[in-house]
Amino acid sequence: MKETALRISDFKDSIFGVMSRLAREHNAINLSQGFPDFDGPEFVKEFAFKKIAEGHNQYAPFPGSMNLRNEVSSYYKRFYNLNYNPESEVTITVGATEAIFVVITALINPGDEVIVLEPFYDSYVASIKMCGGVAVPITMHAPNFTVDAEELQKAITPKTKLIILNNPHNPTGKMWEREELETVASLTIKNDLYLMSDEVYEFLTFDGHSHIPTATLNEMKERTITVSSAGKTFGLTGWKIGWICANEKLSNAFRLVHQYVTFSVSTPIQEAVAEGLKNLETYLPVFRKQYQDKRDYFYKELTSLGFKFDIPRGTYFMMVPISQKTEMKDVDYAMKLIKDYKVATVPPSAFYLKSAEGEKYLRFCFAKKDETLQAAVTNLKGL
Ligand code: PMP
Ligand code: GLN
Repeated sequence: MKETALRISDFKDSIFGVMSRLAREHNAINLSQGFPDFDGPEFVKEFAFKKIAEGHNQYAPFPGSMNLRNEVSSYYKRFYNLNYNPESEVTITVGATEAIFVVITALINPGDEVIVLEPFYDSYVASIKMCGGVAVPITMHAPNFTVDAEELQKAITPKTKLIILNNPHNPTGKMWEREELETVASLTIKNDLYLMSDEVYEFLTFDGHSHIPTATLNEMKERTITVSSAGKTFGLTGWKIGWICANEKLSNAFRLVHQYVTFSVSTPIQEAVAEGLKNLETYLPVFRKQYQDKRDYFYKELTSLGFKFDIPRGTYFMMVPISQKTEMKDVDYAMKLIKDYKVATVPPSAFYLKSAEGEKYLRFCFAKKDETLQAAVTNLKGL
């Protein structure tokens, strides 16, 4: 039989799937794949039951349910003072993952270059490859995961069209400083590029740090494509509702692609997320405290086990340096932790194309029940 397409010839099972499978096989506590092992808020789930019962069960309009687009637009205005017209500038997708694919497909011609800041979320590079684009990695250098402006400028060529940035950042838990964002923004403007800002962890922020959407920076709204989703904010990663906010011309292009990828997104679940977004102001303090308590507990325990690193300000991940503990590289050390200590993590080298810096870290996800985290700590005590 003939071969499958060349453009996917180097695709492998994603590191998240691999590590979750290994966790099951070795009966290990799964702190690898990023999802809560507890349920999302009752009030949002109740809305889903209600919306189904009320008959919101046929195709939604292909750009997204009007109710949800209105609520997305409304929260960008309330929280960030950003104006997106729900009719023409907000598009609902099947999670941020579809949003990322749609944006890249709509923008990238074969041979176009896309700057990805590594460590990166794995679907960026895969989506670029599926469009025949070229991913150009720029390393966010450890230990603070900063981008060097000169390195970034040097990587930009006449073929560069798009920069992809993720803030708050998976896997490091970094929240970008305003000046750092401005450095990337000024090069985006100077070189007439687009910037896709993946902000799926926008509300998962701690210690009062507030998220800075890239679109709020001077002169950036028109060239920024903001991607976000409900998965992390409501701890319901399986609901897969995402959105893209961008100017009308770009949104039109994204909608043209989206209509042929999924056409439209689950109607009752969109309606339920819309109700969830209406209640963000009352919901978020409880949500943040729940995750901040988990972060504090797990950070305290990891530091007392001898891992030294700065506490993450956002996301539900910790990028933990391992070189004080072992000479091993991340992949081998992750295997040792699964087999001998029954704790699964993610080896971050999977998130790099260029640098070997990721080999000196493991990513832990702390979006887990207190008893799961306690059991992991007990297992790791022997380390
Ligand atoms: N971007 C980042 C940085 C992520 O960590 C994830 C997955 N958790 C996604 C995008 C995909 O989000 P979704 O589950 O909404 O597709
Ligand atoms: N975003 C999640 C993580 O970083 C996993 C999503 C997935 O499995 N693709 O772990």
